[in-house]
Amino acid sequence: MTRGTTLRLYNTLTRTKDTFEPIDAADVRMYVCGPTVYDYAHIGNARPVIVFDVLFRLLRHLYGADHVRYVRNITDVDDKINDRAARDFPDLPLNDAIRRVTESTAAQFHADVKALGCLPPTVEPRATEHIAKMREMIELLKERGFAYEAEGHVLFSPAAMNAANGALPRYGALANRSLDEMIAGARVDVAPYKKDATDFVLWKPSKEGEPGWPSPCGIAGLGRPGWHIECSAMSWAHFGEVFDIHGGGIDLVFPHHENELAQSTCAFGQGVMANVWMHNGFLQVEGQKMSKSLGNFVTIRELLTGWKGRAFSGSALRLSMLQSHYRQPIDWTQDRLQSAQAEIENWAVEIAGYQKSGWPSVSVQEAVEPLVYALSDDLNTPAALARMRSDFADAGTLRALRVRKLALQLEWLGILDERQANIYGSSLGGWNLQALDLAKNKDLIDTAQVAMCNQDEVLFKLVQEGLQERGIEAAARDGKFLTLSKAEEGDDRVASLITARLEARRSKNFAESDRIRDELAAMGILLKDAKDPVTGEPVTTWDVKR
Ligand code: AMP
Ligand code: ZN
Repeated sequence: MTRGTTLRLYNTLTRTKDTFEPIDAADVRMYVCGPTVYDYAHIGNARPVIVFDVLFRLLRHLYGADHVRYVRNITDVDDKINDRAARDFPDLPLNDAIRRVTESTAAQFHADVKALGCLPPTVEPRATEHIAKMREMIELLKERGFAYEAEGHVLFSPAAMNAANGALPRYGALANRSLDEMIAGARVDVAPYKKDATDFVLWKPSKEGEPGWPSPCGIAGLGRPGWHIECSAMSWAHFGEVFDIHGGGIDLVFPHHENELAQSTCAFGQGVMANVWMHNGFLQVEGQKMSKSLGNFVTIRELLTGWKGRAFSGSALRLSMLQSHYRQPIDWTQDRLQSAQAEIENWAVEIAGYQKSGWPSVSVQEAVEPLVYALSDDLNTPAALARMRSDFADAGTLRALRVRKLALQLEWLGILDERQANIYGSSLGGWNLQALDLAKNKDLIDTAQVAMCNQDEVLFKLVQEGLQERGIEAAARDGKFLTLSKAEEGDDRVASLITARLEARRSKNFAESDRIRDELAAMGILLKDAKDPVTGEPVTTWDVKR
């Protein structure tokens, strides 16, 4: 651990900000509930992903990158997934349809959170890969008298937990509710097989065609796990019985985390599942809870590719998210995003300018120290950003040094790396035009649109097509963005136009061949006609007009 830094984190369970003491400083373990993969991730889902990514970065800084493990699961067994699969692929067998839904949603989620600058977690376990572990845990709970079987289900009994003596926590401790309150508040339509209204499902039977696995506790027939047991089993599989930090959004405190805590502590007879429970506050959009019926439901993908006529960079989304302390609510607005985007672009222009003229030497450690200090106080990102801005504005410091520190800080926070800074920052240096050309050549935008396109829109069309990454590589190779088009001649529109033009010339249709030459010229492509020195056949090579 970096000497002199005390990390303090607010613990939902104790309702205090406590000094963080890892169980094993050589193996700090954090589990965060991940997405249920049946639909695009919305901007609210992005919040825990970004918040816990910042904490992951901080922990890696404090304990060493090899001494922190971050597990974020993928829930790929859930009735919402089954319903979506049946709706979207009615002609496929349900299990095939489910695979389609979960695989494409998980891939989309990964692309989205990568654009938000998040590091991949150390492990991303899937529920479907841990069914045996879930069964094992359910059997432990039944053996110990905390679970019972009814009509093919296995149910957990909070009343049994609270009646047990010993080290177990009280059911309701996390959510700060009493069991009596919960019984009184339980809905009237309680399933008839439950002994108490608060009992929850560990395992349930599957009907013919539904996803199912052999059941635990000697129950005949196939079944599937309840949602809560999935996370208890996956954290156990990867971290053991007790670990350091458990995180998620505030809506997960009850019932999901309360139930996870109950299952894990009762299965292992421990007083603790995770030492610290952390929850991010909720995000609403333009003053209201996000909902499809209100029309203010916004996905990460929409923001990256165009929301209300504007696309935003992942950097701007991340910055605007970190502007608020993670436990505070956020009101997500277009203005908030626009100012974040503008700030990013200003920083990027400065950084890109200095990248060319060379950097003064500053260590990451030194540059990020003030941020580490602010973040060590319960992940105070607004204070860290305020400190970064005031250091950057410090007129008493050499400008090159200020810019260098800013670049290192932004990269460390996952907001902007040097490569991205180069793209956003060099619109004046020609990247914008080159990106435009590329987008035009790829038919992502047509010529009429070009005049109306701003740099962001072009860049995000390229990101969307996965071309930006490759474009950057090509640019890094020889400084020319458009070499990409050359490298992809095979499937390129340029190549097919050249072939069509050669055909036209062969059939002496010079009007058509001239038309194609003009079309290519409008795309910024200069043709050179020559004869193949061996075969004597006409060949056409091309270059980018400068
Ligand atoms: P879900 O897929 O609904 O289980 O949500 C995945 C994660 O996103 C959980 O940690 C939720 O708590 C979190 N989450 C969902 N909606 C919001 C929101 N509007 N604001 C903040 N976090 C949210
Ligand atoms: Zn969970």
